[in-house]
Amino acid sequence: MTDIVETPPAYWLVIDLEATCCNDGQFPRDEMEIIEIGAVIADSKTFQPIDEFQTFVRPVRHLTLTDFCKELTGIEQANVDSAIGFTKAMARLTEWMAGYPDAIFCSWGEYDRRQFERDCAFHDVAWPFGNRHVNLKQRYTERFALKRGEGFGDALRKHNLTFEGRPHRGIDDARNIVRMLPIIFEQK
Ligand code: AMP
Ligand code: MG
Repeated sequence: MTDIVETPPAYWLVIDLEATCCNDGQFPRDEMEIIEIGAVIADSKTFQPIDEFQTFVRPVRHLTLTDFCKELTGIEQANVDSAIGFTKAMARLTEWMAGYPDAIFCSWGEYDRRQFERDCAFHDVAWPFGNRHVNLKQRYTERFALKRGEGFGDALRKHNLTFEGRPHRGIDDARNIVRMLPIIFEQK
């Protein structure tokens, strides 16, 4: 996996995942599973969003969402109960991404990439993103020479942007991350 992007792609593919979680050690972190994929394609020159993909995903290990998870994400039990499984969700995502063949997968931090790696391994799904991933949090941290990484909400506020939608919903997180792209990448 490399973060080096020598030739900018035509598109950035911003993905934000939500996953099963708990706050009381009910299950280990490595048993978290994706329950929402939110993805936005943004033009790499204008930074404008041009297409979106969203799906809920039914987990297979911890089927009942914890109250903590439902409160954090706003995702309801019915959303995951009626959702497609991970393998089908990845097939749909891959089909949608095929319309943007040189898009590069980006996310705020390393969490989303790692969670995809875990779920792809568990479900034996081939890795669909090529070997490049851009950690936007790291790029942001470098650009502003910050001493340590900043939470996404703090980064938005610092640039006088207000979160639009619901924080910790995959599609809303992805849309708001796209709003930070010009701040991260635009040449001064
Ligand atoms: P986010 O993109 O920030 O909404 O986080 C992605 C996923 O990480 C969430 O769906 C949760 O599974 C997990 N997560 C985020 N924040 C917390 C937290 N404070 N405690 C436990 N898990 C969390
Ligand atoms: Mg999120």
